Amino acid sequence: MTSEGLAPPEAFGRLADATRLDVLRELDAAQERSVSFSDLRARVGVDDSGQFNYHLSRLRPHFAEKGADGYRLTAAGRQVVRAVAAGRFTADVSFDAFEHESRCHRCETSLRVSYRDERLLFQCPACDHEVLDVGFPASGARERTPEQVVDAFARFSYHRVAGARDGVCPDCWGPTDGRVTDRVPPAVDEPAAVVFECAVCEGVVVVSFGGLAVYDNRVRRFHRDHCVDPNDGYYWERPQCLSGEYTAVESADPWRVTVEFPLDDEVCRGRFDGSDLVTVDVER
Ligand SMILES: [Zn+2]
Ligand SMILES: [Zn+2]
Repeated sequence: MTSEGLAPPEAFGRLADATRLDVLRELDAAQERSVSFSDLRARVGVDDSGQFNYHLSRLRPHFAEKGADGYRLTAAGRQVVRAVAAGRFTADVSFDAFEHESRCHRCETSLRVSYRDERLLFQCPACDHEVLDVGFPASGARERTPEQVVDAFARFSYHRVAGARDGVCPDCWGPTDGRVTDRVPPAVDEPAAVVFECAVCEGVVVVSFGGLAVYDNRVRRFHRDHCVDPNDGYYWERPQCLSGEYTAVESADPWRVTVEFPLDDEVCRGRFDGSDLVTVDVER
C-alpha cells in the first residue's frame, strides 16, 4: 500500500481561501453525486472561469477529485467541511460551574462541573478534590445544555476507549496499539495506566485498568449476576476507574496488574498482563 501526503503547511495553504471552502461545501451538498464544472461555478458564484479553474486545481486531488461526470469530494474534503461547519477550530463555548447529578467517588457529594477553553472540569465541593479535568471539543458543547454536555462527554469517552481498544483510532481511524504506561493523567490516582497509541496521527487514549476492565464481557457478566447494570452511572463515579483503591500493581517488569470489583459477598478480580485483561476470577 502506498500513501502520498501533502505536507501540512501546503494542505492548510490550499484551504486558506473562502472560495475554495465554498467549493468544498457545495460538493458536500451534492451528497456523493458529481457536479459539472459549469454547475459548480454557478453554485459558488464565480464569474471568471479561468480563476475558478485555478481554485479547483488547488483542491485536486486531495480535497476534490475529477471524474468523467465532474467533481466530487474526497474523504479528506468531507472532513474539512465537517470540521469547518462544526467550528472545530473556531468555536468558543463555556459555561459556569453547576451542580451535576454525578457524585464524587470519594465522598458521594454531587459534583460541580464547568466548561472553559475546551476543557471540562469536575470538582467535589466537599472534599475539595478535582475529580476530572479533561478535553472535550467545543463543537460538542455548542448545541447542548450543560447537563447534555456532560452526558455527551460520558458517551464520547466510552466510544473513544471502545474504539481505541478495538484497534481503531477515534480521531483518524488509523490502527491503535495498547501498552502499559507509568505516564498517568493527573486524575488517575494509580502508578500505571493503559495507553492506546495511533500509528497514523500519533494520538493517544489513556485509560485506567478499572476503566478498561468494565469493557470486558466477563466483568460485565459479573455485574449483571449481582443485578448491577455495568452501563449505569458515570465512569468517574466508580472508584475502580480513578482512585487506585482497587488496583494493585504486582510487577512493573513485566507489568502485572490486578483490579478488583467487590459486589455483595463476591469479588471479581481481573488481571492485566501487558495491556490485555488476561484472566478474570470470581472469589466467593
Ligand atoms: Zn468528595
Ligand atoms: Zn489516529
